[in-house]
Amino acid sequence: MVFRCQRDSWARQFTTRVVSCRAAELRPEGGGEPVHGFQVVLEDTILFPEGGGQPDDRGLIGDVPVLRVTRRGAEAVHFVPAALEPGAEVQLSLDWERRFDHMQQHSGQHLISAIAEQMFGFKTTSWELGRQRGVIELDTPVVTAEQVQALEESVNEKIRDRVPVTVRELAADDPEVETVRSRGLPDDHAGPVRVVDIKGIDSNLCCGTHVSNLSDLQVIKLLGVEKGKKNKTNLVFLVGNRVLKSIEQSHSTEKALTSLLKNGPGEHVEAVKRLQSSVKLLQKNNLNLLRDIAVLIARDFKSKPAPKQLFVLHRKEGDSEFMNIIANEIGTEETLLFLTVGDEKEAGLFLLAGPVEAVENLGPRWQLRASPRPKRMPRFRRRLAKGVVSMWTHSGLLHHFCAFSSVQSRSTPNVHSSR
Ligand SMILES: [Zn+2]
Repeated sequence: MVFRCQRDSWARQFTTRVVSCRAAELRPEGGGEPVHGFQVVLEDTILFPEGGGQPDDRGLIGDVPVLRVTRRGAEAVHFVPAALEPGAEVQLSLDWERRFDHMQQHSGQHLISAIAEQMFGFKTTSWELGRQRGVIELDTPVVTAEQVQALEESVNEKIRDRVPVTVRELAADDPEVETVRSRGLPDDHAGPVRVVDIKGIDSNLCCGTHVSNLSDLQVIKLLGVEKGKKNKTNLVFLVGNRVLKSIEQSHSTEKALTSLLKNGPGEHVEAVKRLQSSVKLLQKNNLNLLRDIAVLIARDFKSKPAPKQLFVLHRKEGDSEFMNIIANEIGTEETLLFLTVGDEKEAGLFLLAGPVEAVENLGPRWQLRASPRPKRMPRFRRRLAKGVVSMWTHSGLLHHFCAFSSVQSRSTPNVHSSR
């Protein structure tokens, strides 16, 4: 069956009748729980069921939203959340913004594919209409930047030439069908076939909805090529309103960067490169300073005359290397070390190291409080003898850490704490 939307791609309102309605489930595209609703078949429809690389339409039947339209043989099946009475007359309305976008991208794809084949002999093996961009898979391992530019110039010239786009219907057994560019009809195809002609440029078997003149495409931007499957190249393109949207997006990003970087768009890249290298240098200096601090903290502790059974320290800025340096400098044969680094309100690292017996005794208790995930336990146990570096969450460990420091502070003066 050829639907109303295919005979008149510009129809936005349509009156028809409900043929059947039956309970069904819809699996959301992104996964998740199935939606309960109804599959409705109408006498005819202006809502395009997905096909030919073009996604399905959205719209309303009366005031009931249509969540999906699919093709089943010669029928278009509308999925709706509420039941409709068979035999009832209904008013269909189309989500025109979504549809016109699909028309622009789909007709644009026909044009790009046709000119790519004419100019360079690159055949289209498949295409995809994504939410942000369209991709044409070309049967060639390489497309040069010069070829992309020449192709872009040529397709935009055809748009300026206002070439008509027409649709013909042929009987499936018409000998002309064999001569038209096609990737084959689906196995369950029924009824006449449609030929989409771009006058003097292309004839193509296609079930999609198309513009009626290339000038409806406004403009085509080829964003470049990406490596495709073996010996194929993916050509990325935008047509019409998508080009305007993309420019709007780029422009607002550019404005934000101009204000942040305090220079014009022409200098953005250089400014970011300079920033990156200065951050790298600062990070390197910061690490060196942190190492120096670790050594000083350890020496300060060792220089005190008091007993050295316990060393406790928390520092917001630090990493595992910072803790390891302290542990190595102080030594863990006689001193039990408990070190933590990280933001008090977020997750961080801790290191428990010292005489084997003490670590084995204390370690599991801390680990349980520090990490709510019991599956970490076996690994933790294997590493006990050497000392422990592990993640902590502030809610569990820091509470315990404070309690531990205050108890130990009474019995030993060798408790260090920074910040
Ligand atoms: Zn098509």
